[in-house]
Amino acid sequence: MDVFDKLTVLTDSAKYDVACTSSGVDRAGDKSGLGSAVAAGICHSFSADGRCVSLLKVLLTNFCIYDCQYCVNRSSNDVRRAAFTPRELADLTIQFYRRNYIEGLFLSSAVIQSPDYTMEQMIKALELLRGEYRFRGYIHAKTIPGADEALVTRLGLLADRLSVNIELPSESSLRALAPDKTRSSILLPMRRVSEKAQESKAELALYRGAPKFAPAGQSTQMIVGASPESDLQILRLTEGLYQKFSLKRVFFSAYIPVSNNKLLPAIGTKPPLLREHRLYQADWLLRFYKFSANEILSEETPDFDPFLDPKCNWALHNMQFFPVDINIANYETLVRVPGIGPKSAMRILQARSVGSLDFADLKRIGVVLKRAQYFIVCRGFGKGLRAGREETARALLDPGAFTFGVEQTSLFAPPQLKTLFAARQGGILPVNTIEKEVSACIAAKM
Ligand code: SF4
Repeated sequence: MDVFDKLTVLTDSAKYDVACTSSGVDRAGDKSGLGSAVAAGICHSFSADGRCVSLLKVLLTNFCIYDCQYCVNRSSNDVRRAAFTPRELADLTIQFYRRNYIEGLFLSSAVIQSPDYTMEQMIKALELLRGEYRFRGYIHAKTIPGADEALVTRLGLLADRLSVNIELPSESSLRALAPDKTRSSILLPMRRVSEKAQESKAELALYRGAPKFAPAGQSTQMIVGASPESDLQILRLTEGLYQKFSLKRVFFSAYIPVSNNKLLPAIGTKPPLLREHRLYQADWLLRFYKFSANEILSEETPDFDPFLDPKCNWALHNMQFFPVDINIANYETLVRVPGIGPKSAMRILQARSVGSLDFADLKRIGVVLKRAQYFIVCRGFGKGLRAGREETARALLDPGAFTFGVEQTSLFAPPQLKTLFAARQGGILPVNTIEKEVSACIAAKM
């Protein structure tokens, strides 16, 4: 197999990994437009200084000794296999870099022979790049669960960002679907990376020339919809990972069925994209809005509402928190109002230092008044608009829910929901009629 064939196989095998973002579509260029897209191969990521860089996203090999049931590269699956030598991978990266196709490398791998052997091969490739070619571009590398700690350390000194994929959100799911992996074999390297990164920061504060360990931090990926965990369980785990291991990002990947295993959704089942979308929205609330997982979801409602984004859902369940007085509330309170984000909250704090704010000021600042008006008071708007429940619910409906379609259990009785969406797909019902139905049902819950 020549290097180009290997590249075809190994970029295709890497496309299920979303810890970096690839285009996901194949589209040829034509004379009427500019550019083209390929589903796998080049992806984008953000370096430590915030630049968006295009990366060659590839596996070192897709030969795997493990048989994780959710994975296309599992040992029992009949797919074309290939493996780069470290030299081939380093040469290819440099050729692509010189031609200006890429600015860096995103290197992952299946487990060939053993976790240690696989990591050694990855390290050799990165040593060639950093040492022989003096490549200073961005490198994101996956660590292999179960590999020796010393190898994790060596990899972290060569790469800008490391990640260890947690894949499944619970020990029981790992046991059932990936019996070769254990929770501790995944969490230990995460802990190691976190500790080494802190040590490295402390050393750099003392000696400017000290070696940098994974300066762009670490990330992980969780598969959503392959196993039965609730959104609350996934979100609590996400929160714990941020707190314990100072992760930069947790990525969520809607499971695409690739196996006939009875424990997994059948092949052809649609990936739960709306659920993935809700998890990213909730992840944003954890990182930038200082919500906790237990505020966003609860044991009574452990899954996201398909029609409301998590912040609006929280607001509707916590009406005692409102109305918020825009002219006296602190930053933390302001960002909890639907329609007010971190940027507009900062602008409100700055603007009100020179005078109290009214509705027109808030509009200029960029507050989404369509949503916020139901939850605030400000100058000239003292009593708050007491809109009906349905109007409030309608203002808060997430248009994304109608774009993605609804794939998960909702607040509706299933027959009603099915009828509504079947009617829409058949072109019988327009979207706004469905929105009306939905807002009436949400209002009934308020
Ligand atoms: S170890 Fe990784 S590549 Fe191998 S089967 Fe499991 S998830 Fe797939």
